[in-house]
Amino acid sequence: MTRFIFITGGVVSSLGKGLASAALGAVLQARGYKVRLRKLDPYLNVDPGTMSPYQHGECYVTDDGAETDLDLGHYERFTGVPSRQSDNITTGRIYSNILAKERRGDYLGATVQVIPHVTDAIKEFVTSDLGDTDFLLCEVGGTVGDIESLPFLEAIRQLGNELGRERACFVHLTLVPWIASAGELKTKPTQHSVQELQSVGIRCDILLCRSEQEIPASARKKIALFCNLREEAVIPALNARTIYEVPIAYHREGFDREVLRHFGLPQPEPDLARWSHIVKRITEPEGEVEIAIVGKYTNLLDAYKSLAEALAHGGIANNVRVKLNWIESELFEGIEPAFGALDGAHAILVPGGFGERGAEGKIRAVRYAREKKVPYFGICFGMQMACIEAARNLVGLQRANTTEFGPTPEPVVGLLTEWVRGNTLERRGAGDNMGGTMRLGAYDCELAAGSKVAEIYGAARIKERHRHRYEVNVNYKTQLERAGLRFSGMSPDGQLPEIVEIPDHPWFVGVQFHPELKSKPFDPHPLFASFVKAALVQSRLV
Ligand code: GLN
Repeated sequence: MTRFIFITGGVVSSLGKGLASAALGAVLQARGYKVRLRKLDPYLNVDPGTMSPYQHGECYVTDDGAETDLDLGHYERFTGVPSRQSDNITTGRIYSNILAKERRGDYLGATVQVIPHVTDAIKEFVTSDLGDTDFLLCEVGGTVGDIESLPFLEAIRQLGNELGRERACFVHLTLVPWIASAGELKTKPTQHSVQELQSVGIRCDILLCRSEQEIPASARKKIALFCNLREEAVIPALNARTIYEVPIAYHREGFDREVLRHFGLPQPEPDLARWSHIVKRITEPEGEVEIAIVGKYTNLLDAYKSLAEALAHGGIANNVRVKLNWIESELFEGIEPAFGALDGAHAILVPGGFGERGAEGKIRAVRYAREKKVPYFGICFGMQMACIEAARNLVGLQRANTTEFGPTPEPVVGLLTEWVRGNTLERRGAGDNMGGTMRLGAYDCELAAGSKVAEIYGAARIKERHRHRYEVNVNYKTQLERAGLRFSGMSPDGQLPEIVEIPDHPWFVGVQFHPELKSKPFDPHPLFASFVKAALVQSRLV
């Protein structure tokens, strides 16, 4: 029987609700329970695929090809449970499904309304496809009080009622701010947020209070009193040294105990060894490497959340701290490229990206890494740029480019309109809709025997997640191979180049997929572990 834990947030956004949900999932899992996590997003986009990552953060892709909210990345990294299409829904998708049904005549005769049609669709989404899950943790995006969240709150209120207290628990995450001038922590915003939740009929069972200072017993008591809770159900959530310490901190504060107590379930001792090991590795590293990430950034590092985490995991694997140096690629354009910015870097990475701005700078960064024999990792766009660089400077095709930037006489990277997935042929056209039409999700890739990647993975066939519209053009394979690039990973039908490497280089790998999406702190992705190791070797040379 699946029990449901609904997680809402109040007071302000960005309190780390996704992380809190993921970490609670991890502790319950450490107690031996089977968990799943889901997210309800109140915006009108059908999925986050069409939103700018600089506004909304990265778009996280699942094995089954869903473009989802970045919180699903936290869920996977903390629990290891692969997310699915059925783990993230937006208001946009719900309405688009309902409107399609309405046009088909599925509701013939009825007036289609928020209650019951929208709320029913939400309830169905939350409760379907659960198998033998013990706990479904369902996070509601946004902040209580937002107009957009109301149908979701109404749906979970109804669910709470239908399932009963034994099967539904409401957790509310709030902020207890420190007011320096008063020298005090303030509980009023939390009281108001709990009231706001009550005004839509939800009585919270556990309060998780984010705070920068220790919450004194008196404040905890006051919150409990005004929010109608036992003191033990008011859980302090202070800043941790690393996000991976949060599961341990929650357990120390009794969060998981309160959840299990709410449901009247047994409380087997959790096995948190995995988390203490990770925390130790992160807080007591034996060295440091610096990795330059050359891309386009406008301050929001959430745009590359999984990448930053995967590099940290590579550090865990090698017991070093990985210092990330985010570099604007345009620095390397023009007549005086500022390569000095790469001086301290022990390795260079060009991550996924879209559009022409900054692309020439990325190509120059690839050339720098290739010629100076600095370890290079190209991910998706970073692999495409590596192939264009090799075509221009090793093969001599000066006009090599990608059709992403317009027509080109040497389309080393081009739009693919047909490709094979398993036994089916997938198609798309140049003028197709933008949403959900990239090559998305997990695809098989065959690794060439004796290649560096075959050694790194220790396998002959792998499966990695994709999210791109363009592909390295297989027609240039022979020329590029003659010039020194090895196509060490190909789609099983041999049509799609998935990995390139330069054998005559300490570490030069470009991958068409996004390995960062599958890396976990307790299971660092082999490519990131190997790349950080190469950076470590490089750091000893310079
Ligand atoms: N813009 C490139 C494409 O669509 C690369 C995408 C990416 O890096 N995710 O193919």
